[in-house]
Amino acid sequence: MCEASAYRADPPRPAVSPKLCWLLVRSLPPAAANHQPAEAVIIDCHTHLNRYTPDLPATLAERHALLRAEMDAHGVAYALVLTSYDVTPDRPSTRDVLAALEGDGRLGVVAGVRHAQLDADLPELREMLQSRRVKALKLYPGYEPFRLTDASLRPVYHLAAEFAVPVMIHTGDTYDPGTHVRLAHPLDVDDVAVEHRDTRFVMCHVGNPWLMDAAEVLYKNPNVFGDISGFTLGEFQPRFERLMVGKLNELVAWVNDPGKLMFGTDWPISGVRSYLEFVGKLDLTEEEGDGLLWRNAARVFGLDFKMRVETADGG
Ligand SMILES: [Zn+2]
Repeated sequence: MCEASAYRADPPRPAVSPKLCWLLVRSLPPAAANHQPAEAVIIDCHTHLNRYTPDLPATLAERHALLRAEMDAHGVAYALVLTSYDVTPDRPSTRDVLAALEGDGRLGVVAGVRHAQLDADLPELREMLQSRRVKALKLYPGYEPFRLTDASLRPVYHLAAEFAVPVMIHTGDTYDPGTHVRLAHPLDVDDVAVEHRDTRFVMCHVGNPWLMDAAEVLYKNPNVFGDISGFTLGEFQPRFERLMVGKLNELVAWVNDPGKLMFGTDWPISGVRSYLEFVGKLDLTEEEGDGLLWRNAARVFGLDFKMRVETADGG
């Protein structure tokens, strides 16, 4: 650990945050008939409406309905839907997702950047950011063969800074044997975070399995945040959950900043209920729990949840 960490404050913290428990209790099924999901302040900053497997519904409208049902069942007040680096029959374009979610105030859209077609797509990305309907941009290094520091990406970082939205970046495991995982190492985010100090970056999956590399990038750079999505396929299995609880607790303790992490699931790749149970097992202060579940996402993505939170606190 570097010398600088010696003067970081390390306040006493309760083993379990009472408010975090309250939020989780309110959010977990079985939901009562009059369950009010908006009372539980949880923002899922990382979901998809892609049809990853044939068991998911064939139409975008059906998958939208499924995501809304999942949010209602688990008390997720708001979610961001990330589009892909590719457009196929199973991976709808950002424009199609925007059209499908028109009028749904509980879902925001993050535009997947297609590096292979970046020059052609840039005018449309600018137009979508101008409309304020796109809350962030998403890069998929590893899935697409580029380095984050490649000069071709500079317009993306400048565009995000101009419209004050973050750039989400896939970091860590790419699952697919045909992809280059080295390109998705979290230390690569440090290079662009230093070069583009006016741009906010979100390391998706906090670099899993390189969580401590991500921890250093989070701690050092004021313009870098992390989401904890996509650690597992489906539900957490007990041994893997124990492993990841330990690794994430280590990251949280090392970073020691309640403003850095955001709750995300990667639904439908990971299950929301299982993910909330996982979060309930973390060793977080009340401030860290609030930050993780909603406060940091509201700030980083510029979402207005003040009224909803005041209602929840008063109830
Ligand atoms: Zn994802």
